[in-house]
Amino acid sequence: MKDEGLVFNVQRYSVHDGGGIRTIIFLKGCPLACPWCANPESRKAVKPTFWIKNGKKEKIGEWRKADDLVDEVMKDEIFFRTSGGGVTISGGEVLMQADFASKLLKEFHQLGVHTAIETTGAFPLDHIKKLTPYLNQVLFDLKIMNPNRAREVIGIDVSYVKENLEFLLAQEHIDVIPRIPLIPGYTTHIQNLEAIADYVKSLGIEEVHLLPFHQYGSSKYEYLGWNYTMKDVPTLSAAEIDNIKKIFEDKKVQTNIDGLE
Ligand code: SF4
Repeated sequence: MKDEGLVFNVQRYSVHDGGGIRTIIFLKGCPLACPWCANPESRKAVKPTFWIKNGKKEKIGEWRKADDLVDEVMKDEIFFRTSGGGVTISGGEVLMQADFASKLLKEFHQLGVHTAIETTGAFPLDHIKKLTPYLNQVLFDLKIMNPNRAREVIGIDVSYVKENLEFLLAQEHIDVIPRIPLIPGYTTHIQNLEAIADYVKSLGIEEVHLLPFHQYGSSKYEYLGWNYTMKDVPTLSAAEIDNIKKIFEDKKVQTNIDGLE
């Protein structure tokens, strides 16, 4: 297990990304390239990134010792306990720093704190296996099911995604919540949504969470000096979201509209 990891944000008092009041620890590093990514500063290697914000150069990512981070987060333990909340480790892609995440989760687990991760399952199984003994909940993103399109658009191997999800579902102590970012032009094609609905149904999953597209990350691309191809893409209307919900509900999969992707 690794004692030190690269963290780019610690967000307290979150009511997204797991139950109750939570602290979200965002780990730096993600091998994928989702064009809609709302945390582009987290992408690429596990090393700090720089951006220019309001004319000032800022470093994104700080190396943190696991023990120090746990001590900091545990100051909010009272909120976790009284609200049924806990700690969620997000990214980036959490599996890119699996050893560090494992160390953190083990410590929180030993302290009796509810633990969750957000992941896309982008790595071989040995990565997630380091985390599962200490996890209560996994928020598992399903994006594009066609293997060629998934590789071409976001650079993910769908066979890893399926392997990870199916392994997690077999762990009785873990609550697995599949989440689907609804991204116009990428994930919202009817064939993709039907493929996701059929797949989760085949695994016995009865509910998914839907994460509608938003533009909250767009200014970050300017700070980074990166091209943001989704800049002019409108958010989905209520009617479009209802139509998407119906695709799942027609296949007897319930939907829940969730927080931010
Ligand atoms: S997996 Fe998440 S962090 Fe990585 S590129 Fe996609 S949206 Fe961004």
